[in-house]
Amino acid sequence: MSSSLSLENKVALVTGGSRGIGRAIALEFAARGAAVVVNYNKSPEAAEKVVEQIQSAGGKAAAFQADVADFKQAEALVKFALETFGGLDILVNNAGITRDQLIMLMPEADWDAVIDTNLKSTFNCSKAAVKHMMRKRTGRIISVASVAGQMGNPGQTNYSASKGGQIAFTKALAREVAARNITVNAIAPGFVDTEILSDMSPETLEAALKLVPLGRKGKPEEIAFAAAFFASDEAAYITGQVLGVDGGMAMM
Ligand code: NAP
Repeated sequence: MSSSLSLENKVALVTGGSRGIGRAIALEFAARGAAVVVNYNKSPEAAEKVVEQIQSAGGKAAAFQADVADFKQAEALVKFALETFGGLDILVNNAGITRDQLIMLMPEADWDAVIDTNLKSTFNCSKAAVKHMMRKRTGRIISVASVAGQMGNPGQTNYSASKGGQIAFTKALAREVAARNITVNAIAPGFVDTEILSDMSPETLEAALKLVPLGRKGKPEEIAFAAAFFASDEAAYITGQVLGVDGGMAMM
């Protein structure tokens, strides 16, 4: 076996592939040879730009709008991947939002929005993808969780619960589908330089970075490389794991 982490002849679906970490994963996978479905919800232009960037480098990609918090839209998204590229080898559950607030002030709607977008979406897309992967007896499911799901963050009960839920979901599903040669893993990023951090004040971010032994924010590309590793043939014997890509923040 070569050790190139090639994704040649694979079809990948990246939820929230229009911006940030998902965009970096879509570009990394395409550069390694995968055909990529770039899912977006509210940013059609950004998603089309990712597709154009992949295509102009000679790769295959297509964008598809779906709110992955919605079961039927997630099903339609997976169907689109199967019909457009003739299969689905790799699912990346990346779409996510924050609605930070202390619990005393957190509206119920913000709890629901974060749990639905980050955690229910993971169930929605994985259920649809697993149906196909079980038949093919192979597959990769990768969820982009967070250190918040391992350590907990004040002001993020909703987000931490959604990410902790993704991690537990990963372990349970990994045991369920291992016999069909499907691996299920999670990545737990720390602070990564994307728009999701724009809600944090500079003071909060500066204080947060003091908790990072490597002393800086991560780059989206550094998360994308971890995703490419889990997606690769070389990672065939790894399942149910959580890889921290967090500058050493959470040493579990
Ligand atoms: P981002 O730059 O804000 O991008 C979020 C992406 O999710 C966008 O592509 C967005 O698409 C998509 N999205 C949001 N709601 C969606 C929905 N209902 N359906 C489909 N797509 C949806 O955030 P990011 O930093 O790249 O975050 C990506 C993932 O990494 C998230 O799960 C996040 O929790 C996790 N993470 C991030 C950090 C960090 O510091 N950046 C740390 C740990 C974990 P549209 O714009 O098209 O709506």
